[in-house]
Amino acid sequence: MYKIYNFSAGPSMLPIDVMKKAKQEFLNWKNSGSSIIEISHRSNMFLLMTKKIEKNFRNLLKIPNDYKILFLHGGARGQFSAIPMNLLNSFNEEADYINTGYWSMSAYFEAVKYSKINLINVKKIKNKKKYILKMSKWNINNTSKYIHYCPNETIEGIAIHEEPNFYKNLIVGDFSSSILSRKIKIKNYDLIYASSQKNIGPSGITILIIKKKLLFNNNKYTPSILDYSINYKNNSMFNTPSTFSWYMSGLVFEWIIKNGGIEKIEKNNFIKAKLLYDTIDNSYLYINDINNENRSIMNITFRLKKNSLNKKFLEKSEEEGLMYLKGHSLFGGMRASIYNAMPLEGVKKLSNFMIKFEKKFG
Ligand SMILES: *Cc1c(COP(=O)(O)O)cnc(C)c1O
Repeated sequence: MYKIYNFSAGPSMLPIDVMKKAKQEFLNWKNSGSSIIEISHRSNMFLLMTKKIEKNFRNLLKIPNDYKILFLHGGARGQFSAIPMNLLNSFNEEADYINTGYWSMSAYFEAVKYSKINLINVKKIKNKKKYILKMSKWNINNTSKYIHYCPNETIEGIAIHEEPNFYKNLIVGDFSSSILSRKIKIKNYDLIYASSQKNIGPSGITILIIKKKLLFNNNKYTPSILDYSINYKNNSMFNTPSTFSWYMSGLVFEWIIKNGGIEKIEKNNFIKAKLLYDTIDNSYLYINDINNENRSIMNITFRLKKNSLNKKFLEKSEEEGLMYLKGHSLFGGMRASIYNAMPLEGVKKLSNFMIKFEKKFG
């Protein structure tokens, strides 16, 4: 069924059944005679669809009623600006930004434009392994309005698996590469955001799960398109939404429900990640330099001890249909992104390839 396996970090592979369904109904969506991409977002059919999608998403993540869900534009980077603009009402209010890698730092660099932001470093190295301090050891400022952190650093493959438990500050999480990958307790957060192109659907839509009381922004300089209250009042249709991406994300949610929900997805994700980490740890050729507790289950990074073999590794893997394993240009090495849509067979094939490659060239 699969011609290749796509290990890209994002946009990344989508479930094949979702794409088949989209293809099958592309020219005539629900017998409307129109394609989903030419239907008005104001039409009854489209509105019904968005209601159902929201309900499915809410059920999947067990989102309580005092949280609202917004479907926005601008990706996670758009939220890097929107969050300080909506949550901080004056330049006197502060926020704490936790540094765990590239994406959390990118959020920080945007936020410092708007207010006083404290950068909190929590990444350490022990015995040549990177790890992240336990949350109880984070040097949080009690006076800061919110804490921003990224539970899964997509580029480095380092993750925080524990859930936050802070009482004095609001908690904001960038879940772009980890949403829907495992169970989370929504009540532990005040604002969760995720762009779509990893575990949700094609790029184009950004989902926010936000405590209702945080919707009412007082900062009059916030551009309307980034203003949570305006987007909420307009049912996420203040401007024309990314209709196709919204529709596709709905098909992905249905696919997750059909495949056993988040519990089953989480189990599969752990099995897939363990298989790859075991392959790495049991080899002489491959290294992953992240402490077990902070290893990502979505983005598995590794290096080859012999740098000269990098090119050959990529060439040979591509010959076998194992695509886009090259790590991010900032970090080098390899990265296998194994989001929800990556089947276990794809990970098995990669693991077997790695073992074979080591025997031959290692
Ligand atoms: C991909 C990613 C982003 C960037 O998302 P855009 O939609 O391109 O803005 C931000 N944060 C994390 C954790 C990501 O994985």
